[in-house]
Amino acid sequence: MDTSRRIAYFCMEVGYQATMPTYTGGLGILAGDTLRSAADLRLPVVAVTLLHRRGYFRQILDAAGSQAEEPERWNVSDFLKELPVRTSVTLEGRTVHVRGWQFDVLGATGHRIPLYFLDTALDANSEFDRTLTDHLYGGDAHYRLCQEVVLGIGGVRLLRALGYKSLEKFHMNEGHAALLAAELLDERTRVEGRHDPRPEDVEAVMRQCIFTTHTPVPAGHDEFPAAQATAVLEPRLVNLLTKVGCYDTGLNMTHLALKLSALVNGVSRRHGEVSRRMFSGQTVDSITNGVHARTWVSPELARIFDKYLPLWREETFTLRQAMRVPNHELWAAHVQAKIRLLDYVSRTTGIVMDPEVFTIGFARRMAAYKRADLFLHDIERIKQIQSAAGPIQIVYAGKAHPRDTGAKEIIKKVFAARQALLPEIKMTFLTNYDMQVGALMTSGVDVWLNTPEPPMEASGTSGMKAAMNGVPSLSILDGWWIEGCIENVTGWSIGRDREGPDGGVDRARAAEMIYDKLEHVILPMYYHDRDRYFDIMRHAIAINGAYFSTQRMVHQYAVKMYFR
Ligand SMILES: *Cc1c(COP(=O)(O)O)cnc(C)c1O
Repeated sequence: MDTSRRIAYFCMEVGYQATMPTYTGGLGILAGDTLRSAADLRLPVVAVTLLHRRGYFRQILDAAGSQAEEPERWNVSDFLKELPVRTSVTLEGRTVHVRGWQFDVLGATGHRIPLYFLDTALDANSEFDRTLTDHLYGGDAHYRLCQEVVLGIGGVRLLRALGYKSLEKFHMNEGHAALLAAELLDERTRVEGRHDPRPEDVEAVMRQCIFTTHTPVPAGHDEFPAAQATAVLEPRLVNLLTKVGCYDTGLNMTHLALKLSALVNGVSRRHGEVSRRMFSGQTVDSITNGVHARTWVSPELARIFDKYLPLWREETFTLRQAMRVPNHELWAAHVQAKIRLLDYVSRTTGIVMDPEVFTIGFARRMAAYKRADLFLHDIERIKQIQSAAGPIQIVYAGKAHPRDTGAKEIIKKVFAARQALLPEIKMTFLTNYDMQVGALMTSGVDVWLNTPEPPMEASGTSGMKAAMNGVPSLSILDGWWIEGCIENVTGWSIGRDREGPDGGVDRARAAEMIYDKLEHVILPMYYHDRDRYFDIMRHAIAINGAYFSTQRMVHQYAVKMYFR
């Protein structure tokens, strides 16, 4: 094993492929794409996450759209190699043994990035401790805190046990991993037999730590009451955290990560601005997210890129020359991807859709701020648009967090709308939105709809997958789309850029802005000015696909964060 790695990347979830259900959505898939690009770029990175033996969950929907959940079981040893060394952490005074499993992320030129999955399902552990690496974002706050100890502290200890001696930077991808910084501080005091950290210890840890924040929603930041944290953590750690001012009424993982990281960033330009306001006094840079081109470009389009942009697999920037792809070949590849999606729709739902019909795609985690039901606000108006401007069909997907009853209600509303749109308009809701369904949808629809409530969308990445596949976005100006939208060139905005917490206009007006643009701009272009639609598709690839890649993003992390 090559233990000369310099950068350690930590994330609660890593989404590498649909068959390894170790992710929920955007954060984990971003982590997977990041590691793929870091491997492509031959960076000396090693990564750590939790195993999640039962995944997030498998979504079951009944005829009314009521969601039930089942564990998503997978056979760990089919994918991962067990490590010979183990480590341990202390929880509530108990020793909890931690095992590691290795997965190698392979880059385009054969460079490997070891990704370690931490696992507490060991006979030596108590029955409760054995479950700690089962459920992603499951359980209560106590369960989550224990998981974060395993990730942050167990992760650093596993890397040490494996012999990684030259680690210079620790990247916390979201606050779940913040306890790694506490462990680094503890290491410094431990070796010298001290109890309290000195200012130079804190400075040394800060120089090592990088923190990427991912949510402008205050509730998205983990905070544990002091009594709970004191019961779970080692007293020595509580003392350290108190001394560095990260522990008063509670333990806030974001504050901890901010306090102990010299370099902090948000995940789009706008999210950087919003974070600077939210964490006033803190320097917050921004590096806009991306997606991994080879992973998300459909096989049909990949063949066309191979023909006209032969270097695209190694150099995502090459996509900027997408204008070289002839219209008819781009269209033929897109139609093939569309037929593949529609085949999947008919196989899984029995609904037969028409590849000639303009197809709208919407797939998200069903969080309230994503407003999955906004487009469906006025069913009669949607029918009227179809009569006036041409046929429409709609493909939806998305999971609600098991305890998010509001989000579950939104799925039921979408199901009710599906019935109400009949018989004129066909709509389908694909169950169990995962990486496979995501890839099918972002390459197979004609427009990618996104309607978050500003400024809640930190970045968003599904629209970037669509852009790489030549699928333009129709989206609220928030997150990455503020940077990606050139009206009538790369896609379309919904409304103007209205920044700030009160920026969202009311639902009826926001919905009408979508309808208006579909009726008067997008559908007429799609049905009567196809060459212009082709141009928009090629611009989506050339202007946005070329830029919103994890290759560009990892370059920026390397220059601004990892090697400075
Ligand atoms: C890409 C992706 C996401 C994240 O996309 P958003 O634009 O942030 O919603 C979530 N889930 C799946 C399955 C994806 O493929």
